[in-house]
Amino acid sequence: MVQKSCVPYGSDVSSGTYKCADCGHEYSNQSKTSLPPCPNFKKETHPKKCWDILTGQGDDSKDPYPED
Ligand SMILES: [Zn+2]
Repeated sequence: MVQKSCVPYGSDVSSGTYKCADCGHEYSNQSKTSLPPCPNFKKETHPKKCWDILTGQGDDSKDPYPED
């Protein structure tokens, strides 16, 4: 598995845990196929508009950050 960082909003992804590259907000993606914008998104504070991947599919089935 390739670790990617700074995956842009709207990219096609698999389930996993992501962290906002701008503010550090963690987001656990269970079923969506594309990444949403950060819920804290403001253009002043979010120039990168991307997510870092913390865990990918298969790494960890536990989910400490339920979606929604
Ligand atoms: Zn953010």
